[in-house]
Amino acid sequence: MNILKEIKKFSKINKDRIAIHSGDTCLSYGQLDDYSDRLAAWLNREYKESRTPVIVYGHKNPYMIVCFLACAKSGRAYCPQDISIPDQRVLDTVECVEPDVILQVEGNIDFAGANVKKLSDIEKIIENETEIIDESCWVKPDDNYYIIFTSGSTGKPKGVQITFDCLNNYLDWSTNLGSGKEDKEGKNFGNQAPFSFDLSVMDLYTCLACGGTLHTLTKKMQENYGLMYEHFEKSDINVWVSTPSFADMCMADRKFNKEMLPNLEMFLFCGEVLTISTVQKLHERFPGVKVINTYGPTESTVAVSDVLITSELLDEMTVKGKSLPVGHEKPGTWLEIHNEKGEILPEGQQGEIIIIGDTVSTGYFGRDDLTEKAFFKCVRGGREYRAYHTGDAGYKVGGQLFYNGRIDLQVKLNGYRIEIEDIENNMLKLPQISHAVVIPNVKEGKVKSLTAFVTGELGGRTPQEFGREIKKELKDILPIYMIPKKVKYIEEIPMNNNGKADRKYLGGLL
Ligand code: AMP
Repeated sequence: MNILKEIKKFSKINKDRIAIHSGDTCLSYGQLDDYSDRLAAWLNREYKESRTPVIVYGHKNPYMIVCFLACAKSGRAYCPQDISIPDQRVLDTVECVEPDVILQVEGNIDFAGANVKKLSDIEKIIENETEIIDESCWVKPDDNYYIIFTSGSTGKPKGVQITFDCLNNYLDWSTNLGSGKEDKEGKNFGNQAPFSFDLSVMDLYTCLACGGTLHTLTKKMQENYGLMYEHFEKSDINVWVSTPSFADMCMADRKFNKEMLPNLEMFLFCGEVLTISTVQKLHERFPGVKVINTYGPTESTVAVSDVLITSELLDEMTVKGKSLPVGHEKPGTWLEIHNEKGEILPEGQQGEIIIIGDTVSTGYFGRDDLTEKAFFKCVRGGREYRAYHTGDAGYKVGGQLFYNGRIDLQVKLNGYRIEIEDIENNMLKLPQISHAVVIPNVKEGKVKSLTAFVTGELGGRTPQEFGREIKKELKDILPIYMIPKKVKYIEEIPMNNNGKADRKYLGGLL
């Protein structure tokens, strides 16, 4: 598959079909293709010599997609940044990427002297552009197509580079999840995740590859449940893509059922543990709708395995007292369980999940040190592939993969990927804190909340006032979902024999 060619194809055979629907605005396939062709021609002329990635800043405006495609058509990677990311974190990313230009579709942020084109500029450029980009300028198979930044343990996000080939290989598989690609043509796809998270690649590009219509969920809708349910009713979604946590949240209202989404065909889940109880509720509320669990990290283009969760499978896992599997690998991928020496473990034995195959990233942008630690190359099926150490613990039974937690301090909270040290290192930026240890509160295998234990200068404040002040100040440097629910002042952080913070002991204090 070549996603850019697929979009062009739909823009020719059905140019008026809506590609993206967001709030009150929408763009057809014809507009999406034409506008991105023009913007690409401008980018190519204006910044000819350089192929530096472009930062695309905004939220769910359809022009975000015009910018993404324009970058790809002009041979550049794009780096999506959502308006919900604190300004300082966005600026850290700008510093890392050093873009020639930032395309700011939405939001208010001071890019401190960088070359910024706002939506009104972008619209003018598109209107005035007379050239159309030539296909020879498009990103090549091994070029970066996008760079998505994800939580990094140093306190600064790291940019995962995904090539054009990775994306196309991923789409060959994702377009056939639950039903064939042809069956999805013209269908309505639901989007939940901001475009700065790779889960959105599953809805956005699978939809565009099938000639479907993407219905985006905006921040405004997510903040007002009434609006959100109204949006579901209006958009008549056929293919649902979200984290399990988001579906759980929607199920808080009994109205969230087959009557609200009468034409729903499947739920595609990814990003965190899908529990038996979530699927039981979905089967009850949406009889006949397929529930598919997929697994994978941003570093291997969204997802690499899938399994249809049938009632029989639910019963079998309930009887065995096991959690749900994450499935079999997609074609072109090997999922192996390795021990610490890098040896492949036999079925049933637990080790680290290693992903080898044609959707594995080339590594972290500008961070060869981190890339070297997490990625390696190996030969499978007579060909050399990139391989990735997921840091996930797991095992296989009958060729089926089971996820069983992490071997490091990364967690998933409400579907968001967080390196615990990312929070701790950012907390240390506050002058009143001298030591911070963040502990996840885990129930039924899922992280429910985070608690930070901190030492520092109370300076006349009560421990409660101290905690409240820290949470408030963290809003400037961390995304909301990374701010610990509780910040507890303690006089001293307990240490274990290795001289490290005793996380186990602190976990007992939750
Ligand atoms: P992200 O890069 O944000 O997609 O996060 C990737 C991580 O999410 C993986 O390494 C796993 O730890 C976790 N994850 C993804 N999919 C699943 C799943 N289906 N079940 C359990 N954990 C998952």
